[in-house]
Amino acid sequence: MAAVHDPYEEAKRQLRQTVELLGLSDEVYEVLSVPDRVLEVKIPVRMDDGSVKVFIGWRSQHNNALGPYKGGVRYHPETHKNEVIALSMWMTWKNSLAGLPYGGGKGGVRVDPRKLSAGELERLSRKYFEMISDIVGVDQDIPAPDVYTNPQTMAWYFDEYSRIKRGQYFGVVTGKPLELGGLQTRVISTGYGTAVVAREVAKKLFGGIEGRTVAVQGYGNAGYYAAKFLAEMGARVVAVSDSKGGVYSSKGLDVEAVKKVKDETGSVVNCKSAERRITNEELLELDVDILVPAAIENVITEANVDRVKAKAIIEAANGPTTPEAEEVLTKKGVVIAPDILANAGGVIVSHIEWVNNRMGGWITEEEALKRLEEKMVNNLNAVWDYWQSKLDTSKYNLRAAAYAIAVDRVVRAMKLRGWL
Ligand code: NAD
Repeated sequence: MAAVHDPYEEAKRQLRQTVELLGLSDEVYEVLSVPDRVLEVKIPVRMDDGSVKVFIGWRSQHNNALGPYKGGVRYHPETHKNEVIALSMWMTWKNSLAGLPYGGGKGGVRVDPRKLSAGELERLSRKYFEMISDIVGVDQDIPAPDVYTNPQTMAWYFDEYSRIKRGQYFGVVTGKPLELGGLQTRVISTGYGTAVVAREVAKKLFGGIEGRTVAVQGYGNAGYYAAKFLAEMGARVVAVSDSKGGVYSSKGLDVEAVKKVKDETGSVVNCKSAERRITNEELLELDVDILVPAAIENVITEANVDRVKAKAIIEAANGPTTPEAEEVLTKKGVVIAPDILANAGGVIVSHIEWVNNRMGGWITEEEALKRLEEKMVNNLNAVWDYWQSKLDTSKYNLRAAAYAIAVDRVVRAMKLRGWL
């Protein structure tokens, strides 16, 4: 197991490195290492048995130089203030890198939603949003789904906010159900965006994605759609996994058949048409062209990095590669498309949803997908060009370039606004 990191310390360390790389002043670090505001709220919930239980939640607003704060809300029994702050800082960089008119924000409630009834979850969601309603808004801060929150949660947030503010504020949250101004494209957006980044990296490294071998860890929203679109693009998806283990076929898996097995039996390991079962550890060490970690953080670490054979790693999950492992991979010449670049598809489509809400429903699903693709390609190319032209590629990976572009844009906006 990797050492337990404080994500806020990790976020500050990355910022410090980027400030040094860009030759910026200590003042910039001081200003950006602390969030603008963190609101901690008490959420009393009437439980089904008549008792009242108190939960605790946060909304962290890191920086809004580029526009309203934007980022999801997670419900998790182990989430904590520092995690929410770190995630809000990473959203600032992700939104900046994607060229979106947004700052970074994130929310969290310390709760295990699987232990609550639907009614309890609704009361908790409405109360949390009421408690943060003074600092969110269509032009202030726009939450979205994250771990264990979903379109239904967003529907409750939207309704509660609209009730309190006496209007119809569709743009106050994104990732809403279709009936309430959401977009179907949002569902596939992260995996599709990851697949597009993998395709573009493959063009640069191998001359194309066709026939290239791919392994995907995690077969949920991000992993399944990444595998599906990569297969459609002509890649050979040889291995996929979930929390119970994985399956492998040298000729390539039928990704739809595997999905059906997962839906019906709860895991990909029950897929009989695959050549053999593998463990998650084996999947990470397969001799493939492209590895897509799409499950959890810290899976490529000092402990296994020497056995990782992939030529490119496309990070659909947040934080799958530890800094120590990245150093080794960079020396070996392995290209890593970092999370803030490779999994930005979700927030890019969230932006399209928000614009659409403000325009009264104008953009079609086809238009949304086209814009997502364009943005992912442009973003990857901008990061790649920066990496090749401005950095020592034997010392720095694409992550350093992505952070440099993202932080620089925020700093320039702050200077223009007279904040620095
Ligand atoms: P999900 O819950 O839909 O899927 C997660 C998958 O990972 C499941 O198949 C699960 O079985 C598997 N998994 C869990 N623990 C595992 C383990 N120890 N080993 C192997 N597999 C394991 O979640 P998701 O929305 O697909 O998110 C996956 C990752 O992508 C997360 O890091 C998330 O932060 C990131 N991400 C997702 C989105 C999005 O829009 N869905 C956007 C940005 C980032």
